[in-house]
Amino acid sequence: MAKKILVVEDEQDIANIIVFNLQRAGFETLEAGDGPTGLRMALEESPDLILLDVMLPGMDGFEICKRVRETSQVPIIMLTAREEEADKIFGLELGADDYVTKPFSNRELIARIRANMRRFSAGEQDAPQHADSRGLEISTEAATVYKDGKPVDLSVREFEILSYLAHEPGRVVSREELMEKVWGFEYYGDLRAVDVAIRRLREKIEDEPAQPKYIITKRGLGYYFAKS
Ligand code: CA
Repeated sequence: MAKKILVVEDEQDIANIIVFNLQRAGFETLEAGDGPTGLRMALEESPDLILLDVMLPGMDGFEICKRVRETSQVPIIMLTAREEEADKIFGLELGADDYVTKPFSNRELIARIRANMRRFSAGEQDAPQHADSRGLEISTEAATVYKDGKPVDLSVREFEILSYLAHEPGRVVSREELMEKVWGFEYYGDLRAVDVAIRRLREKIEDEPAQPKYIITKRGLGYYFAKS
């Protein structure tokens, strides 16, 4: 079944071009031209991914992103007009997975969408199941992480980072490598996105995020998954 993408964009010309290109790439599309409609559709229509403009009438993209994250881990790509907005996306820790800066090429946008939709599937790669003595279990088949037997609500990106690191406990992985493997080859984004994602991941799986026992920072080099 075609993946459904919600486009929240008030500039009709831009929305038309995006929708045209998404449909040509085989996606189903939903459109909202203002903030409140965007939020309602994000919550009610169960899109597979949301493209979210920042400046919108009624409610801005930052607020929508924050509200959607209260109940959903759907991938969200913010459409920003300026680099300052991109800074704010990470600074506010809204839970956005990615951003693209206008003007963007169709090729870039589709690549980002695919990278953000990519999930570990059962037959993919050779990532083993990893259960350890600390109560953390990573099920690659179910794409779910359990902490002390309870499922942890991770975004696709957070799950992929954890799986990637846990695949080789003890090996220090650079932010560049994480960006390439998890965000995708065609991503040329800001490495701070890695740090933000790690921070959110720690908040969800660590007992004390400030003193992590699973994902450890190797200063200046990257991150590794601690051996149990
Ligand atoms: Ca706008």
